[in-house]
Amino acid sequence: AAKGRGRGNFQFFSAEMNRATHERLMLENRLWLALEQNEFELYLQPQVDLVSQRIIGAEALLRWHHPELGLVRPDRFIPIAEESTLIVSLGEWVLQRAFALLAGWRGGELAHLRLAVNLSARQCHSPALLPYLDSLLASSGIDPTRLELEITESAAMQDPERSRALLVELRSRGIRVAIDDFGTGYSSLSYLKLFEIDRIKIDRSFVKDIETDPDDAVIVAATIGLAHALGLAVVGEGVETAAQRDFLRAKQCDEGQGYLWSQAVPLAQFEALLQHSYSDAA
Ligand code: C2E
Ligand code: MG
Ligand code: MG
Ligand code: MG
Repeated sequence: AAKGRGRGNFQFFSAEMNRATHERLMLENRLWLALEQNEFELYLQPQVDLVSQRIIGAEALLRWHHPELGLVRPDRFIPIAEESTLIVSLGEWVLQRAFALLAGWRGGELAHLRLAVNLSARQCHSPALLPYLDSLLASSGIDPTRLELEITESAAMQDPERSRALLVELRSRGIRVAIDDFGTGYSSLSYLKLFEIDRIKIDRSFVKDIETDPDDAVIVAATIGLAHALGLAVVGEGVETAAQRDFLRAKQCDEGQGYLWSQAVPLAQFEALLQHSYSDAA
């Protein structure tokens, strides 16, 4: 009987696994088609200077307009894309769009804005990344210091030596680098000394309970102090309340990003937010 049950379980699991594999392949194929059919869009979420309260830049966040499902968030498709070379093609699409945005802002009143773009682990370790960036830099003529690339600690720590070399190359071109989701990667802080970076982004899981959880408050305050001592700027992620903003500002955090100011929105809406940002601060 035990043997029979064992076999039954095995069949059950393998059927489940087949279905999961099948669904993943279907989605992966659908994503390639989405790229071909131009169903992706970059939304922009403002990043705000905590002292002046002005918008100083934006993070580009990928959205998929699925004909039936509507707007799909990246958490549902980035992990699938990351399992194949799709992430490299998708990542190149994102970079191309980001450069086009920066080129559109060049020379105008938005020329000072910084645009942050997320890189996946696989993209960071792809030998195609630097040549691709170089071709975009050459053809777009944008100011490289307006571009910031966001890399998570865990992606960077998958291959620290290679990441270190990549960051040196990026910085030598003037491109800025931020460590995303800081504090969630279970990695030693010593990499901060190893890597050439400009900014860290404190993960929203720490910001969330900043007012109620004394541990989170201490961690956030200490992280800001550490970053500043190392000459790095700090962005607080996931700021939803005025109290969270005030806490971060009191601890000298440089910038904030979160629903308190705005969600990620399409380009036209972002440019409308900017108009308010200037008239309010003026
Ligand atoms: P992330 O880079 O850490 O981006 C921040 C995420 O937090 C975004 O989710 C943003 O919409 C969300 N967020 C911002 N403020 C708040 C807030 O106040 N409260 C809450 N609850 N959430 C907030 P989103 O857009 O769904 O993106 C999720 C993740 O997908 C990103 O996390 C990033 O890791 C990845 N991703 C997004 N776009 C790209 C892309 O172009 N390439 C790659 N490789 N990954 C991307
Ligand atoms: Mg990010
Ligand atoms: Mg983040
Ligand atoms: Mg994240």
